[in-house]
Amino acid sequence: MRVSFVALLAATWLAAATTADAAPCLIVTLTGTQGGPQSFNGLAGAGTLVRYGDDANGCAAVKLQFDAGRGTTMRLSELGIGPEQLGAVFFTHMHNDHTDGFADMVQLRWSFNAIGPKLDVVCSTDAVSPLGVAISCSKFTAHIADAFIQSGEIAQRHSEVKERTPGGPAEVINTITFRPKDEPQVVWSSGHVKVSAIRSTHIAGHASYRVDTPAGSVVIGGDASNDIPAPPRNSSTSDQVEKLAQGTDIIVHSAIHPIMAPGKGSGMYPYAYLRQSSVPDLAAMAKRAGASHLMLTHLIPPLGAEQQFPFKVPGGPLTETDYRKAAEEGGFTGTVIVGTDLKSLRLPAK
Ligand SMILES: [Zn+2]
Repeated sequence: MRVSFVALLAATWLAAATTADAAPCLIVTLTGTQGGPQSFNGLAGAGTLVRYGDDANGCAAVKLQFDAGRGTTMRLSELGIGPEQLGAVFFTHMHNDHTDGFADMVQLRWSFNAIGPKLDVVCSTDAVSPLGVAISCSKFTAHIADAFIQSGEIAQRHSEVKERTPGGPAEVINTITFRPKDEPQVVWSSGHVKVSAIRSTHIAGHASYRVDTPAGSVVIGGDASNDIPAPPRNSSTSDQVEKLAQGTDIIVHSAIHPIMAPGKGSGMYPYAYLRQSSVPDLAAMAKRAGASHLMLTHLIPPLGAEQQFPFKVPGGPLTETDYRKAAEEGGFTGTVIVGTDLKSLRLPAK
């Protein structure tokens, strides 16, 4: 009788533990929050890491990187994550502040994990800008290590360790392209994790993403702005991103502060200002979409910066409070995160 009681207790405990361990969770981390190509105060370039799993694996069975600006591998290393652990990398667009950390990432993967699974890289098909420039993610990935091939670096390392494939880092990439549409389309999935994309406006080929998991969902807007390039328009935010974001838990979005607007003394090129989403408009969009968390990243200007190089910040450097005030104008009542590198959100909250 006693034995069976103990066995029953053990079985009950095991069931409870299994249930607790299996609780799904999602962690969204800003790997880089620098707005634009300038280098300022040690901030890494644009990027967001999305981790999904359960309590037993630290919410990290699946690790997805969205954009990979300068220093992404350094921020990932602070989280204990090497490039070989990433399941996929997604690019919103080909501006260098979102891509220039990728060469380092894939060089490391090739150097130390060349025989592992290829890295899925998901991005849009080739596009032509209004000025006639061809924008090509697939060429970017195919030629990612050309400079190191030319320098002899790839051949030298391959001669030392044969598992490193002779073609170099491009050979450990599996590039998956999609044609961005005005409706969400699934572009990648693994188990319970589904990633959808939608067309959005910034430069040609820009796309925004949504990750859906049993623990919650997150939209990564990138540098999206409205299809209408200048006022009059209802908002500086993207209608398509708003569609993608309906009912999401978290919106991660590049943000520009209205102090940089034309006519206020920054001298910033109007086209450059207008192709970003402003903080008040992002907050209003988050409210309309029903999101509970808004993570502002890729801040223009960065916190504490005298300049959004080469343009000045009228009135002097901005603080976190300045960004919060701008978000309040949009009427959003959820949680606002003013992005600095490695700020994270976990769902469910602990
Ligand atoms: Zn950018």
